[in-house]
Amino acid sequence: MRLWIAQTALMLAACTGAADACAAEDPIALARAGTAAIEARRFGDALEAFTKAAELQPGDASLCFGAGVAAFMLGQNDVAQTRFECALARDPDFLPATVWLADLHYRAGRLSEAIALYEAARQRSPGERELQPQLDHWRKEQELQSRFHEARSEHFTALFQAPADEPLARAVAERLEAAYWRIGKTLGVYPSRRITVVLYTREQFGDITRLAAWSAAAYDGRIRVPIGDALKDPDELDRVLSHEFVHALVSMVGGRAVPAWINEGLATVLEPAGSHEVEAALGRTDDRPALSTLHGSFVRLSARDAEIAYASAARAVRRLIERRGVAAVVALLEDLGRGAPFARAFHQRLAMRYEAFSALVARESH
Ligand SMILES: [Zn+2]
Repeated sequence: MRLWIAQTALMLAACTGAADACAAEDPIALARAGTAAIEARRFGDALEAFTKAAELQPGDASLCFGAGVAAFMLGQNDVAQTRFECALARDPDFLPATVWLADLHYRAGRLSEAIALYEAARQRSPGERELQPQLDHWRKEQELQSRFHEARSEHFTALFQAPADEPLARAVAERLEAAYWRIGKTLGVYPSRRITVVLYTREQFGDITRLAAWSAAAYDGRIRVPIGDALKDPDELDRVLSHEFVHALVSMVGGRAVPAWINEGLATVLEPAGSHEVEAALGRTDDRPALSTLHGSFVRLSARDAEIAYASAARAVRRLIERRGVAAVVALLEDLGRGAPFARAFHQRLAMRYEAFSALVARESH
């Protein structure tokens, strides 16, 4: 994102003249509107503005790229891919498009495509060393992945390394199927796209995801789970798999613009044993982070801050479900997936203003 904003600032420098120079049909004015929409996380508006701008000025790589970023955030991966490819076709040296397209491929499990893009960019600019650490990291992951086998169930593909782990991989896929039907019934949503789950040792999981030690698993387009003595504690395994499956479902319905507190709160509330134990953390502290501070990912939080963040997220989502029903929460996710701005969609679907709800949750949890 940082790379891209620098690029866009250059592009916008061209539109600082009189207002009439930036008319509605002007690609520069549209690009400016698209950039503002991305910054305000109104990704539907951004996609529309950049798509129109790119039609008016088809040679401009940054306009294709802006549309790609918006589509990516909406979870419209196919559209995002064609827009990023369009940017690279216009300008092969447009580095942000390489970075975002490679990330898109990586998240879809297309590691070789991600690596090929970085290698091409490195060859074109051998002096640019910026991409090298990520490239090395992906090559290492590819080497590991080349040794993986797979076990499939109806909706899941489990990847595992040691042949002796095949029964475990089958058990993981079957447990995910159980989560699929249980959560599907609760939410009325049954994802049709196949979901991949990658099983790692604890050490491999740490190396590949580079997440904090408190992370039990991850979802970044694929579910990644460290499997040690997993079957010794089947309830914990079910909890982790169910939690990550909800993240997969949320990203398919709501795209990537869903606030973390809704994503994590829903995943926690829908764990087989519910969120009671997680929410108990709120009884041990007076810390009450405002919901507006819980929109970004929790992955970089300390173990203690993460505990409070998960507890607050679960409490807030449980309150939403109690007040308006789970269908209203699903409808909110669907609106976000279509590009609706969060505060407006929240107000419409939950029949109250977001600020009012945040204040209510802050009061209730004391
Ligand atoms: Zn989570």
